[in-house]
Amino acid sequence: MTTGSETFEFQVEARQLLQLMIHSIYSNKDVFLRELVSNASDALDKLRLESLRDGNLEADTSDLHIAIEVDKEQRTLTVRDNGIGMSHDEVVQLIGTIANSGTAKFLQELKESKDAAASQDLIGQFGVGFYSSFMVAEGVTLLTRRAGESQGTRWESGGEGTYTIAPADDAPQGTAVTLRLKPEDTEDALYDYTSPWKIREIVKRYSDFITWPIRMAVEAPPKAAAEGAEGDEESAGGSAAEAAPEVETVNSMKALWARSKDEVTDDEYHEFYKHISHDWNDPLETIRMQAEGTFEYQSLLFIPSHAPQDLYMRDRKRGVQLYVKRVFIMDDCEALMPEYLRFVKGVVDAADLSLNVSREALQQDRQIQLMRRRLVKKVLSTVKDMVSGAPERYTTFWKEFGPVLKEGLLGDFENRETILGLCSFATTRDAEEPTTLRQYVERMKEGQEHIYFMTGESRSIVESSPHMEAFRDKGFEVLVLTDPIDELWVDAVPEFDGKPLRSIAKGQVDLDGDGEKDAETEAERERQKQDYADLLSWMTTTLSDSVKEVRLSSRLTTSPACVVGDTHDLSPQLQNIYKAMGQELPEVKRILELNPTHPLVSGLRTAHGERGDDAGLAETAELLHGMALLAEGGELTDPARFIKLVAGRLEKSL
Ligand code: ADP
Repeated sequence: MTTGSETFEFQVEARQLLQLMIHSIYSNKDVFLRELVSNASDALDKLRLESLRDGNLEADTSDLHIAIEVDKEQRTLTVRDNGIGMSHDEVVQLIGTIANSGTAKFLQELKESKDAAASQDLIGQFGVGFYSSFMVAEGVTLLTRRAGESQGTRWESGGEGTYTIAPADDAPQGTAVTLRLKPEDTEDALYDYTSPWKIREIVKRYSDFITWPIRMAVEAPPKAAAEGAEGDEESAGGSAAEAAPEVETVNSMKALWARSKDEVTDDEYHEFYKHISHDWNDPLETIRMQAEGTFEYQSLLFIPSHAPQDLYMRDRKRGVQLYVKRVFIMDDCEALMPEYLRFVKGVVDAADLSLNVSREALQQDRQIQLMRRRLVKKVLSTVKDMVSGAPERYTTFWKEFGPVLKEGLLGDFENRETILGLCSFATTRDAEEPTTLRQYVERMKEGQEHIYFMTGESRSIVESSPHMEAFRDKGFEVLVLTDPIDELWVDAVPEFDGKPLRSIAKGQVDLDGDGEKDAETEAERERQKQDYADLLSWMTTTLSDSVKEVRLSSRLTTSPACVVGDTHDLSPQLQNIYKAMGQELPEVKRILELNPTHPLVSGLRTAHGERGDDAGLAETAELLHGMALLAEGGELTDPARFIKLVAGRLEKSL
């Protein structure tokens, strides 16, 4: 039997993960069974689908089911399915290595977190599938044969550094995973996995909704056997002697989404969520929808309570599965959920689709598009209910998924206003509490027409930027937008609730117009304009290589100068994003604004009036521009030259 046996080393990550399982820091060990049953159920789904698609597949699909066998003497537990199975190469690939791209990051975080509760939490977020067997087993054997192939494979490991693989001639179609359970812990009868009643209880708790039968031999309770008690669905070898085991189907097999709402408990929903999401934590929200009529469907969706590791990775998947009349059709059904809701997990079961429907056909299907619209609206309205009714849950939601949801502001035109209403933003009003746009609008000052915001790399850069001065001085609230996605959507979204959104680092600001108009300030402005006309036109020429205009500012109170963009120009951050993506951009020159009340600026005006065009004054103009760039956290084009000029000036002042 062991001829041709090969020994392999586990991939480094896999080995680390196994060590974690063996010295299990996860307190709820029962979940290993849920993971094995979940894999078996997926294997049955896959076989049914493959045999539907491929008429020539030589597979037996007559009695698809999962069987659990317990051997008290040998201390073994077997979970068996007659599903798709695995080929030799698949076993090596799927069981010996960890493909998930988030794993390395996860293990790193786990290593760094010293406290046990945090580690548990991390494992829960990750879910470790098949490997969780090693929480309860000292050795695991997996015997498998892929449907349609003749040769089977036996995989064995004690979880240490290596595993062996050998060909197996006696393997039935599908997969059997046999655990050699760790020695009994007499202290803790709760963890006796050789007890059929314990196993039965775990299956009922975690896997009741699995739509395939999960069968188990359960010794009939002595009395019931004698009196021939009612209610036994199936019995093997009916007339056998005394305590002959009866094979029972342990689970109710009812698809949760097809049951009426009041028939299903929250716990059942949560276990189902864990089955489809591979997450070990409860979801944040459960969303049910049923549509009757010409295009009938049922859906059961979930918003997770934390972001998965791969939320921002290119190869990540969307989480909605498509079923047709209870038959699993595909994972990751992108036609049902837009990219910006890729964190939503769940199932959609449509009554009137062909079982053979392809991904491409789905994208084109008008009914599917209508369905998607309704699903999206339902998810958004669920979040909206959180905003008003469950602020704590909303805070969690926003922390985990806010930046992803904001991607919808770019693509989903139809729901833009709704999405805007679900967003929250950091604000200059409060260092801790973010604000919604609705709240911002309610607080707007008398006569204020715009919703002000500033984008930047961090809150501190934005807050200390010179652009903020007059806004702070006059008590205008400014939204502080620091997510990279913010740079993109602010250009695409003109307004909220009829109030234009306005960057404080772009265009002209007229805070007096956006508040109390005052004839005196108007007159003062006019006077300044005339006084400074010469200086401004001279500086515009002198700095023409780097700025498109020099003008007076009404944003500044304490800084001498700042640089601003024209209303429709790309912000410097956005230019960087495009450049990082490899896009060629024409150079965008910005505008230098001067603060006429600053002594350096008024001094420069006087000196220019006396001396005209002069090399020393040209240097001062250049220095002013450099300082304005530094003040907003920007970069100088020639830092060495700037330093040389500053050093020269300092030297003279000694
Ligand atoms: P996950 O289920 O999260 O992908 P696992 O470690 O539990 O991770 O399983 C890895 C892969 O091994 C599965 O994705 C599946 O392709 C394969 N596999 C596991 N169990 C079975 C099974 N009973 N039948 C067929 N394939 C299986």
